[in-house]
Amino acid sequence: MDEQTSKDLANWLEFYRELGIEDFYRRSASALGGAESGPRPAAPLPAEDERPVIEARVDAPLPRPAPPPEARPPAPPPRVTPTVAVAAPIRPPLPTFSLFETPAPKPTGRETLEQIRADLGDCRRCKLAGGRKTIVFGEGNPHAELVFVGEGPGADEDEQGLPFVGRAGRLLNRMIQAIGMKRGEVYICNVVKCRPPGNRVPEKDEIETCSPFLFRQLEAIQPRLICCLGAPAVKTVLGIKEGITRIHGQFYDYASSKALATVHPAYVLRNPREEKILREDFEKIRQFLNEK
Ligand code: SF4
Repeated sequence: MDEQTSKDLANWLEFYRELGIEDFYRRSASALGGAESGPRPAAPLPAEDERPVIEARVDAPLPRPAPPPEARPPAPPPRVTPTVAVAAPIRPPLPTFSLFETPAPKPTGRETLEQIRADLGDCRRCKLAGGRKTIVFGEGNPHAELVFVGEGPGADEDEQGLPFVGRAGRLLNRMIQAIGMKRGEVYICNVVKCRPPGNRVPEKDEIETCSPFLFRQLEAIQPRLICCLGAPAVKTVLGIKEGITRIHGQFYDYASSKALATVHPAYVLRNPREEKILREDFEKIRQFLNEK
């Protein structure tokens, strides 16, 4: 290429660059009707009005300038692999009490047997205090449906500090079992808490002094049924002076409870023929407690 042709070509290239055309290619010799290879024949100089055989590849997409940062679409949020949280199984809280424990009784707001016993203390309110060995306060279920009330402790009770533990107590136990109950289900106490000398009947002043503690015990327990064993108990609890053999087996009202009078087991031990009375009355007790 001579100097003039080079200048012409440079001018054409500059002309196309000003038009924004940057890429050029040259047609092959075959496309121009000549051989692709081989020595190129000396081309005649282009005439003044002839343009060099150069074609711009205008169909090629121009490189797009990068958009300004603010025009760029926001980057997609980072792909987050959802974490499937497998929650640990929630176990119900264990009960704080054993299934084998007796549930604590609901507070009643009433005086408790323990409070009454504490108030009794080492009682010397009546003359029976002088001859006793032990105060026999009472024994049994503080929430019993059935309460037995005798007249006073005997020698065995005075010795052991528990009510109805001698021969009469053993008979009472058999009667309780005969109606399908256990001694521990009931509550047993007496009108007076100290043994009268020689197992005599408690005197009026002794009963008047000691019986308020009995009434407080009955108020604390509030049983369904009070069984008065013998005349002194019937007279103290129910105020009935009639003979026990005439009124036994009958139900009376005592506060919110019912009361029934029967003979004392010690009386039956002395009069074995009267055991029939005791059995009949205990059958009434059984029927009453089975009523809903
Ligand atoms: S019988 Fe009753 S009142 Fe008399 S000293 Fe004994 S507990 Fe006290």
